[in-house]
Amino acid sequence: MLNIIIFGPPGAGKGTQSERLIEKYNLKHISTGDLFRWHTKNDTELGIRVKEIMNNGELVSDDITIAMLKEEVEKNPEVNGFLFDGFPRTVAQAQALDTLMTSMNSSIHGVIELKVSEEEVRSRIAKRKSIQNRADDEEDKLNRRIAEYFNKTVHVLPYYHEQGRLQTVNGIGPIDKIFEDIIAVTNGFEVAKP
Ligand code: AMP
Repeated sequence: MLNIIIFGPPGAGKGTQSERLIEKYNLKHISTGDLFRWHTKNDTELGIRVKEIMNNGELVSDDITIAMLKEEVEKNPEVNGFLFDGFPRTVAQAQALDTLMTSMNSSIHGVIELKVSEEEVRSRIAKRKSIQNRADDEEDKLNRRIAEYFNKTVHVLPYYHEQGRLQTVNGIGPIDKIFEDIIAVTNGFEVAKP
């Protein structure tokens, strides 16, 4: 297996780079944000519980998030590996993920941080706004998600850094060049397996 985490603020280009990584390594993409959005759209019990939290751009509790993630991982026992996107966002989630991977006789092989400054993210979003004409409440939500990332989510990075599992890639520049840099890093994860 090859299990990777991709990390970065909203607007960093995680979606585009994730698609390429999944294709290259034939990974199962697990995005907790997409899973939560699916639940809220389909008005499931879980969706109803998390809707307001998500609308406020806040984090869903660790208990709920970890249980949902675990269920999704366990639904896919035969995969080549996982690409985790939007998870973990807290140290408790990172520890739970390690425990889960260990229970599958595997591990998280590495974490890729797509580095884009808060200033750059805000400028990209302002450009997008002028093209897409987003509603103000969408804008508000996005601003809160960006703040959430830079104020809280980044605190999970030292957990991986201390264990030598964190690799930072510059997220500014042409998409192809960023992908090349990511592959250089993931090749290292492959060599260092298990
Ligand atoms: P994302 O698309 O990854 O930015 O996620 C959208 C929203 O889903 C976030 O703003 C949170 O409300 C919720 N969410 C997604 N992943 C997590 C997570 N790992 N922990 C807590 N909340 C999450």
